[in-house]
Amino acid sequence: MLKKVFGPSDCAKCRLCCNFHRESAWETPFLTDEQAARFETDGVEIVRRERGGASFALRFVDGCDEPANCPFLDPARGCSLSDELKPFECKVWPLRTMEKDGRLVVGRYRNCPALAGEKASALDRLATEELLPTLLAFVAEHPESIRPFSPLYEVCWEGDLPSSFGALSVNG
Ligand code: SF4
Ligand code: SF4
Repeated sequence: MLKKVFGPSDCAKCRLCCNFHRESAWETPFLTDEQAARFETDGVEIVRRERGGASFALRFVDGCDEPANCPFLDPARGCSLSDELKPFECKVWPLRTMEKDGRLVVGRYRNCPALAGEKASALDRLATEELLPTLLAFVAEHPESIRPFSPLYEVCWEGDLPSSFGALSVNG
């Protein structure tokens, strides 16, 4: 979805989105219950999120600060999932939908190395002028995917939370 701004070759050099330190394990991609069940059928270890939905389990090494790779990261070739199976959040990263002060925000990850110079504002325009309907449709269907706000993200759009969000626990 974001190929107008940057391409797979940028991510091939980086992989920041696909490995996780313990403190950033909350960033592991959101899976719907249907996706989680399908991955579990294939033997993939899944963890349930408190707010709803699920994520891939990460395998950290005890006593070591090394980040853990997403189970679908091929270190040589990148993500090994097809477009059909790739989680929605991975398709729109480094954009993320979050809740901030009772509002829905679309945030852009501040530290993405592919977004130097004009590319950050180009992505903001793409998010607000083209991708917004897709982002809003996903969170309307899956309000449990909305993350608590993190200052690691620059807000590029703000609006109302979907009405279904109010029924969720806000701690997950
Ligand atoms: S941080 Fe940016 S460049 Fe790096 S993998 Fe993620 S989207 Fe690609
Ligand atoms: S599913 Fe693919 S794109 Fe998403 S974190 Fe895992 S390896 Fe990266």
